[in-house]
Amino acid sequence: MQKIDSLDTLLVEQLRDIYDSEKRLTKAIPKLVKAATAEELSSALESHLTETQEQVSRLERAFSLLGEPARGKACAGMRGIIEEADEHVGEAYEYDSLRDAAIIGAAQRAEHYEIAAYGTAITHARLVGRDDVADLLEESLNEEKAADEKLSEVAESCVNMDAMSGQNEDDEDSDSEDRSERRSDRSMHATGNGARARSTRRR
Ligand code: FE
Ligand code: ZN
Ligand code: FE
Repeated sequence: MQKIDSLDTLLVEQLRDIYDSEKRLTKAIPKLVKAATAEELSSALESHLTETQEQVSRLERAFSLLGEPARGKACAGMRGIIEEADEHVGEAYEYDSLRDAAIIGAAQRAEHYEIAAYGTAITHARLVGRDDVADLLEESLNEEKAADEKLSEVAESCVNMDAMSGQNEDDEDSDSEDRSERRSDRSMHATGNGARARSTRRR
């Protein structure tokens, strides 16, 4: 194993870690797309998959700018985040919208981890005078931040609302018409689960 003797070497090591993360994500995101129910969520994940593939090639360009072979080094952090995502997706959910909410949580953990990794690598690239590499990485960082914000939007605008209305559907009959309209719009979950929702409700 090569000794890390300079910030330049450390930068390359970090790029290898990020390269591995991104490649893992190109395999993990399609599984999340499959498990997602809300159209808005699957399309957000799909468009980030396309960006992730572009981020992989961007890293290959960064390696070539640095005169290094594009080689990944197993990222234990991302491997763990993806393992957890698989676990969360595989749980039993009363409503599909609850699984969607869990998928968003898992995807946002991945985004935040990437944001941290790119942030550090960009700082190091600038410190060693490689603005060309830093600029490239910054394009990816901006995509990660936008993906994270988009996921928050999806959670706020549709998924979490539906998960809540599912839980509360037996409390408030007065506006149940509104809610069933909203539900049928998205065909998120079956009706008539009030009793089970009540027994599993947690506050
Ligand atoms: Fe990424
Ligand atoms: Zn890592
Ligand atoms: Fe990402």
